[in-house]
Amino acid sequence: NVRVRFAPSPTGGLHLGGVRTALFNYLFAKQHGGTFVLRIEDTDQTRFVPGAEAYIQDCLRWCGIEPDESPIHGGEHGPYRQSERKANYRAYAEQLVANGYAYYAFDTAEQLDAQRAAHPNFKYSHENRQQLRNSLSLPADETERLLAEGHPHVIRIKMPVGETIGFEDLIRGMVSFDSSLVDDKVLLKADGMPTYHLAVVVDDYVMAITHVFRGEEWLPSAPVHILLWEYLGWRHAMPKWAHLPLILKPDGNGKLSKRDGDRLGFPVYAMNWLDPQTGILTKGFREMGFLPEAFVNMLALLGWNDGTDQEIFTRDELVSKFSVERISKAGAKFDFEKAKWFNHEWIKRSDGDTLLSELRSLLAANGVIDPDEQYLSAVLALVKDRLTFTTDFWEQASYFFKQPEGYDLAAIQPKWNTEKTAFFADMIAKLENFAPWHSAELESFYKLAINASGMKMGELMLPFRVMLVGGKFGPHVFDIAALLGREETVARMKKGLE
Ligand code: GLU
Repeated sequence: NVRVRFAPSPTGGLHLGGVRTALFNYLFAKQHGGTFVLRIEDTDQTRFVPGAEAYIQDCLRWCGIEPDESPIHGGEHGPYRQSERKANYRAYAEQLVANGYAYYAFDTAEQLDAQRAAHPNFKYSHENRQQLRNSLSLPADETERLLAEGHPHVIRIKMPVGETIGFEDLIRGMVSFDSSLVDDKVLLKADGMPTYHLAVVVDDYVMAITHVFRGEEWLPSAPVHILLWEYLGWRHAMPKWAHLPLILKPDGNGKLSKRDGDRLGFPVYAMNWLDPQTGILTKGFREMGFLPEAFVNMLALLGWNDGTDQEIFTRDELVSKFSVERISKAGAKFDFEKAKWFNHEWIKRSDGDTLLSELRSLLAANGVIDPDEQYLSAVLALVKDRLTFTTDFWEQASYFFKQPEGYDLAAIQPKWNTEKTAFFADMIAKLENFAPWHSAELESFYKLAINASGMKMGELMLPFRVMLVGGKFGPHVFDIAALLGREETVARMKKGLE
């Protein structure tokens, strides 16, 4: 029974790399009829940011990758916030000490700061642990006294010397580390909270996690985790690991960071994130006018492909086609132009409720309340080819919902004359009784009239468009007239002649 988890720390907005991690876990789970767990890793209370957890949940909902178990969905393995599981961890840390795999360390913050000042590359490790204040360096009775007197202490893992720690990564194959190079990470903090390293292993075990897809930035932590699985006697139950390739800046120069979004002119967050502490708003894909289908499709291809040229995938297709074998080891360059292409393609393909409700709120924000369902769909069908973002809809289609506010007079005025006024006055009179009011019929009727007038096609087409639309843009003008309807078309033409 496949069980995967997405385990973010609620420290801020969700970067697109985080959403991709969630997505790959989700796809793998759904493909195997498994369970997708959301676990909130909030043991580092100094980095806790209020609102971040709700933001993460909203993000997953928007993307359509909802967890099966989570703090709000519940589940058999709850609670799903590590801070609420605090009581579970100490016993495991103590067990590690009792078995000689970990030790108490009493060094104060000042003592460690002094070490760091004296040794710029200070690492608490086998090289210096004998000179520091811990249960390995102190006499046993001294350790007991310090513990009995309640001196603040942490529990650190005792990294072995000269061992090779290896595991089989689903993406990278055999990966191994030299244990001598890894420091003695803190497992349990002085306040009794576990660190990430202890909590992640304990919870993956007790939540029966079978596979872990996580970012490559966690690879250096893997040797600590592997040893903990072994030292806690759980190696047989260890999940399979898959460390996902980095997402790189568009020029391939280094990892795409949370700060790049504002600098490089595109969002890196899934949705707008308003930092409650700094008041800074970081822009998101959703508010920029991305469809979740496009966002998810684009993310899926950051480091994965199905081996063909196919680029557009529905979520169901992703679920059935996703394969760990086709995840690349190499970093994936993020290309915002490509992201825009995905969105454009998805808008063209979409007539779904997500898009329509998106457009309805956009219209409402511009004072158009409750447009007719069918009319809205018909407008969308006419202009969707012109939309990169859903938010472009207002610019491209506002004239379907209200009369143009101004006219591009420069386009028509220089060549205007009384002959044209006469043509349009006559045309208005004829259109008032014209039937059937359909695009093709209107077009041939209008063109016959132009031919009969002896004037040029373009000279009479452009003013017609400007009267209806306000400018030189938009789809086929007879499609516009057909959709606007007789009354509105005629009214706009009359106004154009005023
Ligand atoms: N809490 C870690 C994070 O913020 C999870 C890393 C992991 O998946 O092990 O990404």
